[in-house]
Amino acid sequence: MSKYVFVTGGVTSSLGKGIIAASLGKLLQARGLKVTIQKFDPYINVDPGTLNPYEHGECFVTEDGAETDLDLGHYERFLNIPTSQANNVTTGRIYQTVINKERAGDYLGKTVQVIPHITDEIKRRICLLGQSDEYDVIITEIGGTVGDIESLPYLEALRQLTNELGINDSVSIHLTLIPYLRAAKELKTKPTQHSVKELLMTGIQPDILVCRTERPITKEIREKLARFCNVNKNSVIEAIDADSIYDVPLLMVKEKLDSIVMSKLKLKGQQTPELEYWKDFLGNLKNPTSSVKIGLVGKYVELQDAYKSILESFIHAASINECEVEIIDIHSESLESNSPESKLKDLHGVLIAPGFGERGIEGKINAIQYIREQGIPFFGICLGLQMAVTEFCRNVLKLKGANSEEMNKKAKHKVVHLMPEQVKIKMKGGTMRLGAFECKIKKGSLAHRIYKSSLISERHRHRYEINNTYLKQMEDAGLIATGINPKTNLVEIMELPDHPFYIGVQYHPELKSTVSNPHPIFSNFVKAAIEYKAKGKAF
Ligand code: GLN
Repeated sequence: MSKYVFVTGGVTSSLGKGIIAASLGKLLQARGLKVTIQKFDPYINVDPGTLNPYEHGECFVTEDGAETDLDLGHYERFLNIPTSQANNVTTGRIYQTVINKERAGDYLGKTVQVIPHITDEIKRRICLLGQSDEYDVIITEIGGTVGDIESLPYLEALRQLTNELGINDSVSIHLTLIPYLRAAKELKTKPTQHSVKELLMTGIQPDILVCRTERPITKEIREKLARFCNVNKNSVIEAIDADSIYDVPLLMVKEKLDSIVMSKLKLKGQQTPELEYWKDFLGNLKNPTSSVKIGLVGKYVELQDAYKSILESFIHAASINECEVEIIDIHSESLESNSPESKLKDLHGVLIAPGFGERGIEGKINAIQYIREQGIPFFGICLGLQMAVTEFCRNVLKLKGANSEEMNKKAKHKVVHLMPEQVKIKMKGGTMRLGAFECKIKKGSLAHRIYKSSLISERHRHRYEINNTYLKQMEDAGLIATGINPKTNLVEIMELPDHPFYIGVQYHPELKSTVSNPHPIFSNFVKAAIEYKAKGKAF
């Protein structure tokens, strides 16, 4: 039977519950246990797929095509195992299930209520992954902050589950903030006391307190928190601000978070976690032997969470190349009216980001033309590839007015167009081409050298595709499709063999980069940037 770890948060949002959950998961895994992590989000959207990145940051897509919270990206990057639809559930999805059952008459005339019907559905979903024998431990993170109205049904479900499970089958971790008051020169425990009180009112006694803090917490503070919050003083864990999220597992080992959880759950595993490769990863990251500047051109660059997986993939690639990768954020709109030269000329590589809609695309196109002509390493993802194709068709093939159908429905040359199966779709949620699809790679191509394989699988999230009617013209002029979906013939990868490093992909490689498995396109892109910097301009 699986054991359960419940993670709630108090005092404020953005304390990094996802990182704590992922770090604990990593440590338990490094002790030989099989672990998965899931997140329950208390908002009413059925999934975050329809949310604007400004609202919710990046939408992380799983292998099975679920549009999920970006914390699932952290879980995968830390644990190196895929998550699925079952790993992210929202209030909207819970209610949708209950309402569908009600409409089907499954409740046999009963009044449908938050307790027990909504809470039962929450419990069913929390335990879903535990039904296979696949996992020793299931970590469940509850989004939001204790005290929010919308979190209440989840806390009630946790309370019930804690009682229904055996005494050593679940453990409750509460993550809080210990603020430092500069005027008083003191760390303050009161917000945590209040937060735990709020949790106690829902009937949940936390077993472990994880305290986010800017400064080390003293023995006295640990004792005070233990006394007021009914936890053992050894179970008051310091989570001090770290340079990198990848430091957190090691900080948690020092605080013995893994040992405490294992002893409470009576779990047997290795005495100490095996973290050699993790330490090597951090060692390489912190002791770079070279440095490069890479431009990230997008329309949401002011919001770091919008490109979370891309930024993390660069960290993985930086470590494997022992290189400091400085990411220069460039707003695509800022490249629309002026020449992109001033912003791009000192960069050693440019990534054109994924995205939706018209805003800033002319800036992306200007940037790609400059990069293509100057021989600066180029990497385009999804919309980035689509804009590369548009740029090439306009400026090399001289197809005036070439565009993506997404940007101009009346464009004379729709070089990127709506996929046939998308034409009839009216509903927005969960209707894109989503999840893992295969791609066949041409031998001798850059992609083949990067992947060292002729058949790969990558994750997708798009409605538009490269228009194959223009493919021959593009290929004749040097822009080659080197990756094709073997079943549908959709173009997945395009490259310019005459350019030092120019690759655009329709899928999202950033979703598969992990600490133990950095994505080869990102690693090779950074390598190309290092070479470009060393050699100077290629042509
Ligand atoms: N907007 C484009 C499409 O739907 C690209 C999507 C993306 O970059 N993820 O095809």
